Amino acid sequence: EWWALRTIWDKGLLYKGFKVVPYCPSCGTPLSSHEVAQGYKTLKERSAIVRFKVKDEDAYFLAWTTTPWTLPSNIALCVNPEDTYAKVKAADGCIYYMGEALLDTVLGSLAKEEGEKAYEVLMTMKGKDLEYKEYEPLYQCAADVVEKQHKKAFFVYCDDYVTMSDGTGIVHIAPAFGEDDARVGRKYDAPFVQLVDDHGKMKEGTPFAGMRCKPTEKEMKEGAVSADPEVLKELDKRGLLFAAPKFEHDYPHCWRCNTPLIYYARESWFIRMTAVKDDLVRNNQMINWIPKSLGEGRFGNWLENIQDWGISRNRYWGTPLNIWECPDCGHQLSVGSRKELAELSGKPENEKIELHRPYVDNVVIPCPKCGKDMHRVPEVIDCWFDSGAMPYAQLHYPFENKDLFEKEFPAEFISEAVDQTRGWFYSLHAESTLLFNKPAYKNCLVLGHVLDKDGNKMSKSKGNAVDPMDALNTFGADAIRWYFYTNSAPWLPNRFHDKTVTEGQRKFLGTLWNTYAFYVLYANIDEFDATRYTLDYEKLAVMDKWLLSKLNSTVKAVDESLGAYRIPEAGKALEEFVDDMSNWYVRRSRTRFWAKGMEQDKINAYMTLYTALVTIAKAAAPMVPFITEDIYQNLVVNLDKSAPESVHLCRFPEADETLVDAGLEAKMDEVLKIVVLGRAGRNEANIKNRQPLAGMYVKAKEVLPEFYQDIVRDELNVRKVEFKDDVREFTNYTFKPQLKTVGPKYGKLLGKIKQA
Ligand SMILES: [Zn+2]
Ligand SMILES: [Zn+2]
Repeated sequence: EWWALRTIWDKGLLYKGFKVVPYCPSCGTPLSSHEVAQGYKTLKERSAIVRFKVKDEDAYFLAWTTTPWTLPSNIALCVNPEDTYAKVKAADGCIYYMGEALLDTVLGSLAKEEGEKAYEVLMTMKGKDLEYKEYEPLYQCAADVVEKQHKKAFFVYCDDYVTMSDGTGIVHIAPAFGEDDARVGRKYDAPFVQLVDDHGKMKEGTPFAGMRCKPTEKEMKEGAVSADPEVLKELDKRGLLFAAPKFEHDYPHCWRCNTPLIYYARESWFIRMTAVKDDLVRNNQMINWIPKSLGEGRFGNWLENIQDWGISRNRYWGTPLNIWECPDCGHQLSVGSRKELAELSGKPENEKIELHRPYVDNVVIPCPKCGKDMHRVPEVIDCWFDSGAMPYAQLHYPFENKDLFEKEFPAEFISEAVDQTRGWFYSLHAESTLLFNKPAYKNCLVLGHVLDKDGNKMSKSKGNAVDPMDALNTFGADAIRWYFYTNSAPWLPNRFHDKTVTEGQRKFLGTLWNTYAFYVLYANIDEFDATRYTLDYEKLAVMDKWLLSKLNSTVKAVDESLGAYRIPEAGKALEEFVDDMSNWYVRRSRTRFWAKGMEQDKINAYMTLYTALVTIAKAAAPMVPFITEDIYQNLVVNLDKSAPESVHLCRFPEADETLVDAGLEAKMDEVLKIVVLGRAGRNEANIKNRQPLAGMYVKAKEVLPEFYQDIVRDELNVRKVEFKDDVREFTNYTFKPQLKTVGPKYGKLLGKIKQA
């Protein structure tokens, strides 16, 4: 990873910026989003509507903020480029710019007398027209900081996060104290002004030095001064406070110490993903996403709106960031290998050093610019970067295994759940694009989440979560796997339902196992050893040829489906074959296994069923690894010590097209259809199968050969089967006009129609 970061550094894509995080000034630590979610409380506070004097114009922008303490750090205002703004002359004598939709709400109360107009619209414009319009800094302290950074500030930004739902339609921007502020600020290359220290106190140089931006009540009692009211007072004194409306909001508090949190910028390292956006998008188009919509939609959109990647964390554990910094002249360098670390530090023993904290922090590098001691920056890198480093880091590329890496990269296939769109799918793609400018994987199968049987998200607190170990113990791993393969397309959310699991278990696994058990039972009685016989196609009965044809068609279908990531389709093909094998082949051929001695016909039946069982075990092995291994061990390894020792070491079976006889399969399909219909007919007429019938008629274009007719006669217990294409003689129709339908159409003719 040091090699990777160094490569990215050399491309000028790794930089130190800042990141706004929820922060507890009392604990001095940032909080994660789920920590923040634990501590919301309702606060009643005063917001501020502030007059920002437009530069070189006798007018003001009216901007709104809920956090007056951030105003000394103001460096910009922001409007929505698409919304309409108005320049108005208000009843208080001032000229204001603000959102048109909010004029009445904000200015309405200025009308003191009946009939007096609160304001008069001078002109309207789109937010976009206000972009780059300058105003005078609200506080000199901010202007001083901006000056030092040689950056431009105090003008209007545009971004569509600004809404007309409250405030004035113009928001104040302090990039050090808001995520949106920071994001928009990056767009306009904003200076960094943070006039609050990490204890939540206003810094020296502000008129509010030492005051607290969000003190607790306890701290107030102990003498802390809250900055908010003081800022309002100070602005009012200068005539810049338009109003300070009270409002109520849910505000996050620290779950540890109950202090109100502040949004606070902390130094952070970023990778400039925005610079490689086109590469990210182009490489994404080379990936086969399953389903396609995810790659184009969710992932594609994410890449289209890509932000720079914050990769550093202020933690102890983790991969140390490989940047050394000079405290004196600010020079920075990135170390790309152990060897380089030893060379730069001038100490050969550093090549063998433990690269984690605290050891690596002791390595000092003399500054090539000024000779002072450079130290490693304190940050470690985010483990998401680790996850994206998997393809090259696992092989210690480029220091070892260069050939192997180049052979294996990009990966043929990866799969994870949909929540990894911005996680692993992205970290792999991002690093691969940065380092190799190609995709990290060729095929990506995205899984949907598992829901409860009613389609709700599983959660421990709701009590609808299924413990996977319980489910595995109850149903077995194969049954659970089979359920997930066959229940729905993998990318759809999956409703987990016990009944569906047992249904699949019964229909597929149970049937497969019973067929296998049938074979084993008779093979044991006959001491039949499949290795001593061959399958002699010419000698086989039609039923045998049919099963082998079906078998090879199935193998082909499964292979093709799996190759195209059509998982439920592969499962369905296997399930249908096992059903045919058990409920048709074995049922029709049972007596052949009961025959005395070991005549050719019996050998044929044994060998056909044996071949089908072993082949289908191999074809189903990737999906149901345990039952197929059992079958394989007993049927193959038991007899042939030279066979691969596990079904999972066998090659996937190849369909033998010479054994596929489409005509035969079609005829047998027809027989099956006739039998199913015949049984239904008997049911409807309430005539049991035991009771023989003289004959049956089948409407069909062609007459089935005698062999198949035999099966039908036998299955349905009828003496004669007659095929007819023209069945008019069996049907007679009576017409009875639907008066309601015919009535309105033919009116007077009705009587005659009835007679007819
Ligand atoms: Zn705290
Ligand atoms: Zn230096």
